[in-house]
Amino acid sequence: MRYSALKILAEGLTGNRGWKPAWRDPAPKAEYDAVIVGGGGHGLSTAYYLAKNHGLTNVAVLEKGYLGGGNVGRNTTIVRANYFLPGNQEFYSHSLKLWEGLEADLNYNVMHSQRGLINLFHSDGQRDAFVRRGNAMINQGDDAILLDREDVRQHLPYLDFDNTRFPIYGGLLHPRGGTARHDAVAWGYARAADRRGVDLIQNCEVTGFDIRNGKVMGVRTTRGDIRARKVGIVVAGRSSQVAAMAGMRLPIESHILQAFVTEGLKPVIHHVVSFGMGHFYISQSDKGGLVFGGDLDFYASYAARGNLPMKEHVMEAAMTLMPMIGKAKVLRSWGGIMDMSPDGSPFIDRTPVEGLFINCGWNYGGFKAVPASGWCMAHLMATGQPHEAAARFRLDRFLTGRGIMDEEGTGAQHNLH
Ligand SMILES: Cc1cc2nc3c(=O)[nH]c(=O)nc-3n(C[C@H](O)[C@H](O)[C@H](O)COP(=O)(O)OP(=O)(O)OC[C@H]3O[C@@H](n4cnc5c(N)ncnc54)[C@H](O)[C@@H]3O)c2cc1C
Repeated sequence: MRYSALKILAEGLTGNRGWKPAWRDPAPKAEYDAVIVGGGGHGLSTAYYLAKNHGLTNVAVLEKGYLGGGNVGRNTTIVRANYFLPGNQEFYSHSLKLWEGLEADLNYNVMHSQRGLINLFHSDGQRDAFVRRGNAMINQGDDAILLDREDVRQHLPYLDFDNTRFPIYGGLLHPRGGTARHDAVAWGYARAADRRGVDLIQNCEVTGFDIRNGKVMGVRTTRGDIRARKVGIVVAGRSSQVAAMAGMRLPIESHILQAFVTEGLKPVIHHVVSFGMGHFYISQSDKGGLVFGGDLDFYASYAARGNLPMKEHVMEAAMTLMPMIGKAKVLRSWGGIMDMSPDGSPFIDRTPVEGLFINCGWNYGGFKAVPASGWCMAHLMATGQPHEAAARFRLDRFLTGRGIMDEEGTGAQHNLH
């Protein structure tokens, strides 16, 4: 069924009785050409592009819980392409272009909103770093505008400019940055993959791999064994645990990142805003809630909930930057398990086991990567060759020291994630 305005009108006039489930609920088959472990954003987009770009439709996505129940439905929804280093730049640029055509491609409203993202700076040194970043973004073909203090005041009049501990010097505006509705992205990819024949199998946990003579032959699951000559591990925060089932030790640590939402307010924050002197960033959802977050909880954990000291830290940073937020009531908070790599960059690569591929290391920024990640992972699984936009995301970069990248351009910081 194709969604359209006409269809909504017709259903509205006839009691909404014609809608069908967005995807099927098939039983697992004994064998597939390719199996994707993990039904988050990256697993679903991989399956979709395997079918769409490479004609591979005998594919299953195996999800241990329900689709969208992982971090794809727990993040703060920021979509941007403002990376500084080669390797990351071209990848996130590719991803943003895919976002811009995503709703038409999936025939699904993912509520992609390019409302602009402003990174604030608070010193001359930070301004220099942002000028370099902005130039790198423009050279890559993306957009960046340097704002001075008065420009920022016009865009964000609710910030504290006058009595603040860290005066605002200006900001880097990324006009094409913004947000999207996170779980709609999972549902949109799920529905589009299903329509192309992919089996989406929920409540199906992968518990082991069938590996013979260095080749993957299939997976063991809580719903029986499934044969497949190509298997992709796409499980984000659980990457180390699932890779260990195949005898691999990954350069990944799992840490908790928290998010917070206030009661619904009238429109007040029209951009995504990121504080440059503390761990705090914010946007406003279409329902009116202020959605904000900060940094990691700073210890390795698989508990999908956060600690109180980090909550306090984020609230303090929020009050420092925009005291008006103190009047809003926080309704809820939650945590998600981040797959942190030592240099802040991901992996989309083959593994030492033939036919077994891995996609992980998304740190706290994997939501915006969903389209390009699936695109490049599908390319790798279908052709055996890395896609050019993900050419640097190799697993061996910590063995060889070649091609190490980092998100903040400050050099890899061991154990600081
Ligand atoms: C609080 C928070 C804020 C964030 N904010 C942003 C942001 O603003 N912008 C941004 O770009 N990114 C953000 N992120 C990061 C982003 O959400 C993640 O990097 C991304 O969602 C991870 O990829 P995924 O969607 O595939 O993961 P997930 O949705 O977690 O998918 C992995 C799936 O694998 C399944 N799985 C695990 N083990 C098995 C198994 N053995 N068998 C079968 N299935 C298995 C899990 O159940 C899960 O559904 C944020 C994350 C959090 C937690």
